[in-house]
Amino acid sequence: MGLKKILHMNTGNGKTSYANNSSFQNVVISKTWDLVDETLRNMLENHGFSGSCMNIVDLGCASGPNALRVVSHVMDTIHDLRKTGDCSCCKPLEVRFFLNDLPDNDFNSLFKPVEDFNEEKRLVCGSIRSGCFIYGLPGSFYTRLFPTKSLHFAYSSCSLHWLSQVPRGLESENKENMYISIASPPEVVDAYAQQYKRDLMAFLSMRGEEMVDGGSIVLTFIGRKFQDFSSKDESGQFTMLSQTLLQMVAQGVLEKDDLYSFNVPIYMPCQQEVESIIDHQGSFKIDKIVAFLVRWDANKYADELPFDKNRSGKLVADCIRAFMEPMLVSHFGKSIDCDDIFQRYAERVGEHLAKERSSYQMLSISLSIS
Ligand code: SAH
Repeated sequence: MGLKKILHMNTGNGKTSYANNSSFQNVVISKTWDLVDETLRNMLENHGFSGSCMNIVDLGCASGPNALRVVSHVMDTIHDLRKTGDCSCCKPLEVRFFLNDLPDNDFNSLFKPVEDFNEEKRLVCGSIRSGCFIYGLPGSFYTRLFPTKSLHFAYSSCSLHWLSQVPRGLESENKENMYISIASPPEVVDAYAQQYKRDLMAFLSMRGEEMVDGGSIVLTFIGRKFQDFSSKDESGQFTMLSQTLLQMVAQGVLEKDDLYSFNVPIYMPCQQEVESIIDHQGSFKIDKIVAFLVRWDANKYADELPFDKNRSGKLVADCIRAFMEPMLVSHFGKSIDCDDIFQRYAERVGEHLAKERSSYQMLSISLSIS
């Protein structure tokens, strides 16, 4: 079965849905606003696009509240920039705002609140903001999504660390792990790094064809601090999930061969790696890179409440479950007990966080077409 069919977030608005378990991604989004605003300001000041209809896309938007927060913020910024800029002669700018994700994404849940969102925005902002038209755009961002030279601004948060496929040939090499760990042999590291390079090159080349002159992109994804994978385990969440499944294999609950052949289509690059691929591909120039840390258990109350290992462990487990469950069910079969897996996992993560409050290294990059 192709990756496009098994890679999707948990659907709907229930207890285990992505919509209800994406507070980590929500915190990440908030930390990207300054770079988004700066990029839009430079873009509008330098190129204006006066009077035209702009095409904007959120690549890998998933479902739930985060996607509409992005639409709202980008539209507010454009509105403010047009208002304060020397644009009194300009007509209100109309925007086609595309929400992109893979075809199995829960577009129905995503679009249910759009009508209320439009209505609310119209009331607050009068006629100008009613010029935002929101569309769904199913398809892989590793393929062409827009006609040549038609896209003005692209945004993507917490999506580009997803590969187009699991790197080939890992089955016999990466037995007890589902991603790169501190103990992974060089072949495993290389297979992941090469897949990432191919995918990022394809992504940049597609967007390079689609972007208008003067167009920009802001990309944010999970990265890593250290070039060398063996210096520190920066992907401990996957290592701990592998350990949880391994324990279940030892107890006879899961099949060993199923675990050995399970690998995730994710790669967390370091900054130098990304810079070198962007330079080598050549369609875009890097205007700014911002690196920042986000705690695994990040949520909007994180700094107000005292640390509690049970709450933090569960928060991380719920977040991981929201994107891992469809993949686990597809690989291990429908009888797999995800309640059991993620309860064990939450305990393991809670114990770990009590010893070390781990964070992810996030990379946020502003690019303009060169
Ligand atoms: N941007 C959202 C969602 C992040 S989850 C947020 O910040 O909350 C990552 C999303 O990327 C998932 O919905 C996943 O389906 C999507 N995704 C992964 N690979 C993709 C691809 N090749 N094309 C389009 N979307 C993709």
